[in-house]
Parts: sequence; structure tokens; C-alpha cells
Amino acid sequence: MSWVEAEEYFAENDIVILPVGSNEQHGPANPLGTDHLIAKAIAEESAKRTGVLCLPVVPFGVSSHHRQFWGTIYVSPKAFKEYVKEACLALKYYGVRKIVIVNGHGGNLASLSELAREMREEGVFVSVFQWWPAAARLLPDLFDLEERKHASAEETSVNLALHPNIVNMAKAVDEKSREHPVQAEGITLPLDTTDFSKTGVWGKSTTASAEKGKKDLEAIIDELARHVKLLKNAKIEDLAERSKV
Ligand SMILES: [Zn+2]
Repeated sequence: MSWVEAEEYFAENDIVILPVGSNEQHGPANPLGTDHLIAKAIAEESAKRTGVLCLPVVPFGVSSHHRQFWGTIYVSPKAFKEYVKEACLALKYYGVRKIVIVNGHGGNLASLSELAREMREEGVFVSVFQWWPAAARLLPDLFDLEERKHASAEETSVNLALHPNIVNMAKAVDEKSREHPVQAEGITLPLDTTDFSKTGVWGKSTTASAEKGKKDLEAIIDELARHVKLLKNAKIEDLAERSKV
């Protein structure tokens, strides 16, 4: 898109889709780019179906907890939030008032939630879509719990459906997570992945298939497109910061 085409788009539309992800270990079988590649793919397909502009993907995210695995390129929560927020503010300059962030990595969520709240005060309504909780609700029987964890069968299946040439199923493993010795109910610990996994896989990945991945993707993209359409048709006056009561 040239700036002339951008001008035409922003004159008619106040909504965009922004995919964000991470570059982090996903076990021995999956590419480091898994989270940003999946976010980009589902964001672009939903954009096509809804006539909404999709921006380039932000590839690096908040994943220092995977850093002991080679090739994990991470940034701090603060840097991530500020970087994405400034991109959102640049969009506001062109009249964008609604932004759907398609997040491919759970570690980014806390920063994105803070950002969305701050952007609402700026008069911009930001929603955050994550495909794996959507899939667990929409297709509860497609995978079991051990297949729905980090780099396990569900994520591997989606990779197989999107880009089989960069998945090496010969290296796929199943690994049951070790419980930390001080873990108890109600406790949150500052764990790194190496505290409970040797391979970087949590759960079962060998049962992955492109066919299951395609089913997942259809449901995920339908749901994301449904949300984008709803937001596209919503008026910013009904979404924006409320005045004092
Ligand atoms: Zn992932």
C-alpha cells in the first residue's frame, strides 16, 4: 500500500487489525516464529474477509521466561507496551479509533491489557484477540488438555496447516510438565520454562495433524472475523471513554 492508498483507506475507515507475537522456543519440532507467524496468518485472513486493513506483524514480545532456549529474542513488558502503544497513537493521528490486536503469545497479554486501558482514555478502543482460548471454547473436543499447552499438539497442528515446510514432526516430543517443589494451590511463581520442561514442550505434541489444525483455523478465523465486523459497525461514541456521572 502506498501513502496515497493509505490516505484513501483512512478517509473511509476508522479501524485496523494489528497482529503481534513473539520469537521464542516452541520445542524441537516447531519454528521460533510460531507465535508471530500464526498471529499474522489469522489476522490477514480475517482482514481479507472483512475489508479491514491488516498492519505488519510485531514479531518480538514478552518471553524472557523462554530465554534459556537458544534463539528466543525477547523484550521487556515496558518496552513492548510502549512500542505497540506508540504505533497505536500514530494510527490515531490518521483517524483510527478502533484497533483489533491479534495476539499470538500469552506472555504479551498483561502489557496489551494495560495498553488497551490507556488507549481508551486517548479515545481509541483497542480489543485483544487470542486464538487459543477462542479455540478451546469453540472446539472443546478437538484436543485434550495436555494437547492444548505451549508447543503441544494444538499449536503444532495449526503450524502444520499453515506452513508444514517449517515443522519437523520427526522431532516432535511429549513431555509431562514437572511440578515445582514449592508449588501450592493459589500460589503464582516467577517460573522460567526450564523449571518444568527439558524440551520446551508442555504436554503432548506427537498427536498433531494438519487436518485438526485446519479445523481449528476455520473456527478461529470465523470468530475473529465476526468480532471485526461487530467492531467495524460499532460507533466510537458508544465505545469511547465515558464522561463523569
Ligand atoms: Zn506459542
